Amino acid sequence: MNKNLTSEDLGKIDQLEKYLSNKNNHFLGYPCTIDFDYSILYKFMKYPINNVGDAFYSGGSYQINTHPFERDVIDFFAQLFKAPENNYWGYITNGSTEGNLYALYLAKRLYPDGIVYFSEDAHYSIEKNIDILSLKSQKIKSQHNGEMDYTDLEEKLSNHQKLPAIIVANIGTTVKEAKDDIKHIHQILDHLRIKNRYIHCDAAFCGSYAQFLSPKPNFDFTEGADSINTSGHKFIGSPIPCGVVIVLKHHKEQVSQYVNVIDSLDDTITGSRNGITSLILWHFIKTVGVEGLKKRLNECLEMTDYAYKQLSAIGIDVWKNPNALTILIPRVSKKLQYKWQLATHQETTHIILRPGITKKMIDRLVKDLEKEIHSHLTTAEESKAGL
Ligand SMILES: *Cc1c(COP(=O)(O)O)cnc(C)c1O
Repeated sequence: MNKNLTSEDLGKIDQLEKYLSNKNNHFLGYPCTIDFDYSILYKFMKYPINNVGDAFYSGGSYQINTHPFERDVIDFFAQLFKAPENNYWGYITNGSTEGNLYALYLAKRLYPDGIVYFSEDAHYSIEKNIDILSLKSQKIKSQHNGEMDYTDLEEKLSNHQKLPAIIVANIGTTVKEAKDDIKHIHQILDHLRIKNRYIHCDAAFCGSYAQFLSPKPNFDFTEGADSINTSGHKFIGSPIPCGVVIVLKHHKEQVSQYVNVIDSLDDTITGSRNGITSLILWHFIKTVGVEGLKKRLNECLEMTDYAYKQLSAIGIDVWKNPNALTILIPRVSKKLQYKWQLATHQETTHIILRPGITKKMIDRLVKDLEKEIHSHLTTAEESKAGL
């Protein structure tokens, strides 16, 4: 098939590779890890792999799948999140937006008249998913550090004390990497005597390492989570967006549905499912695993300290949450936002130190920022100049 490609087509492919490799070296504002190598898996690009159905169901007539690998990955994350040994279920998603959608869908089927409580700092996928599912919801204020304002939560809950509460906790908000405390949330629910409750932890970025932080955030199944999701293409690293969602099995079994045409259970949001990402995450748990995750976390914490100090040293007003890998600085110019792919939210720009980020990259960014400070080219001046 490759011989049908013209020299122009081949040129485009080469150009794309150069473009991506350059962009990969200027990528400081998103949580995606860049130092992975899954080349041993290239050979699977020639099979119509499809993980349709439930990876834990023993039947299934579509058999070109990677279900055993998917199960290993789910087992790994269930253990990491301290799920009860014989009471968890999960699957590999296309990312945390789908993980959040699945968790809210499950919560809706368990508590059709429940109200979803989520904070101002929750990811935009939460509001979208609430809209898709036509759920009732209440937005909770955030504290300055990005964590949920528990006083506001208690107040809003007390207005609907008779209805089930579906709560989305952020284990690492997108902008400030703030972590909500689900033990505290349970105490509030206890205090208000709200028995029918479901707590979902959106741990898109921090899920894979939150367990190794000290102090450890309260987010896992022993602390009262009903479901947890994390992204595979963020701290873990993947060329294809993906994620993991783990739920308590007894919840999922209450709503499970058998589908004749595939002879399996339709418990996932999409029908056809990516089976390559199961292999990618399997490769990760085998090559990096728990010890590797701890090591990578410590390296990133050190790199964050380094970046924090370098940025402060040139007089920038730097801020971060304790134990976070995300550093906030005042909004930088469009030029630098694009050069370094820096996500910018209102008046702040953030820098995320995840595996693959080197001191050299930080030093070059610091140099660029220093130049910008000296030229006093602020965003306001930039827009005046029509940039
Ligand atoms: C990135 C992110 C998401 C969305 O994840 P995708 O994998 O991009 O769909 C959801 N929640 C939080 C907190 C995030 O940071």
